[in-house]
Amino acid sequence: MSFEKLGLMTELHRAVAEKGYQQPTPIQQQAIPLILNGRDIMGGAQTGTGKTAGFTLPMLHRLMASTRPQKGRRPLRALVLTPTRELAAQVYESVRDYGKYLPLRATVVYGGVSINPQKQKLVKGVDILVATPGRLLDHVGQRSVNLSQVDILVLDEADRMLDMGFIHDIRKVLALLPKNKQTLLFSATFSSAIKKLANGLLKSPTLIEVAGRNTTAEQVTQVIHPVDKTRKRELLSLLIGKNNWQQVLVFTRTKHGANRLSKQLISDGISAAAIHGNKSQGARTRALAEFKKGDVRVLVATDIAARGIDIDHLPHVVNFELPNVAEDYVHRIGRTGRAGNQGEAMSLVCVDEHKLLKDIERLIKRDIPQCIIEDFEPDPSIKAEPITRGRNNNRGRSNNRPSSSNDNKGRRPKSKRSASSNYASSAQTSGNRRSKSRRHRNHAQQAA
Ligand code: AMP
Repeated sequence: MSFEKLGLMTELHRAVAEKGYQQPTPIQQQAIPLILNGRDIMGGAQTGTGKTAGFTLPMLHRLMASTRPQKGRRPLRALVLTPTRELAAQVYESVRDYGKYLPLRATVVYGGVSINPQKQKLVKGVDILVATPGRLLDHVGQRSVNLSQVDILVLDEADRMLDMGFIHDIRKVLALLPKNKQTLLFSATFSSAIKKLANGLLKSPTLIEVAGRNTTAEQVTQVIHPVDKTRKRELLSLLIGKNNWQQVLVFTRTKHGANRLSKQLISDGISAAAIHGNKSQGARTRALAEFKKGDVRVLVATDIAARGIDIDHLPHVVNFELPNVAEDYVHRIGRTGRAGNQGEAMSLVCVDEHKLLKDIERLIKRDIPQCIIEDFEPDPSIKAEPITRGRNNNRGRSNNRPSSSNDNKGRRPKSKRSASSNYASSAQTSGNRRSKSRRHRNHAQQAA
């Protein structure tokens, strides 16, 4: 199967060839013809499958096919919503790369940076806008963007948008869009909340899935290293040094944990940087760029900050701590083994995390092989302790409030605010579904 056979215009083949893509990935083979035919899509695609090109290429083709001579400011015709700034920036980069031979204009807006330069670009008129939901609503409020002529809507990583509590913002945006449009929804996992959103939004969608839902990429080798909590850092430094790993993405559960670990690695002589929601956008972009260039060997990240990070041939992902939410394991290890490359994902698991590991193995429907490293055998006399979750019990720190710096600075959704204030009581009355979803949102926020 070649890109030519998919029915895309020549300008797009040229751009794709320049990127070095020889043939479409499975999701592209499925999605592109359907999207070109105007169908709504519900795409179950993991990160690393090539889904961005899967929706961007046919979107660009359709916009070109329906371009009409226009008097005045060009109307916004395609909107892509993403959960995080990093993903928005990456999707925008793809739109620019794939559309480089087309006379279409695109821009990107997200929170955490000044709104005025974004406004100036928007008021000149763009065909395509990539946005995080909160900042988009800021622009709507300031009348720098008009959504009434959008023909194509893409919800990218919709599960993550819901996890982050953006459902209210998304609903507000949807209310401003025309009824008659093409909608493409992509999600790595399909919860009942996603299905509910899709039911109200998509018109007889075609469901496409390239890997089974909640499964992990085949090209990723997974392993568990059982180890005591207090010796994880030592083991990590040893693995990096002994194996001479040059580019490792390491996940922690909390922002504080990410900072602490990156400082400790630096003191072990390993260059490291941390990214999370408390860092300014500039600091996050810089750290990511240094990591991509190879100037920084280890990038320590929380789940949300790492979301959407796309690094060619990233060979190693380490779960320094397992995620609280099993689905995040799938997202984390999807950072490696991308687009057919081999990758290695290892998890340092202490006795406290055995339940989290069980949840993960149940989700991915397989047991992950375990390998105890010599001299790091777990001490069997250590008893499991409850995992410290959220801000109320973050390793003895008091008043560890979740950051106000999220992807849509200054616009935290109402539901999130109540999630924070209700966390202490809801965590104790676990079992009912509402408190469960609140906890989930709070974890997302805490990790950002
Ligand atoms: P995505 O899943 O959209 O984040 O894409 C993951 C990676 O795959 C990105 O680095 C893309 O540049 C790359 N990619 C996308 N499509 C192809 C293709 N057809 N052939 C090779 N690499 C691709």
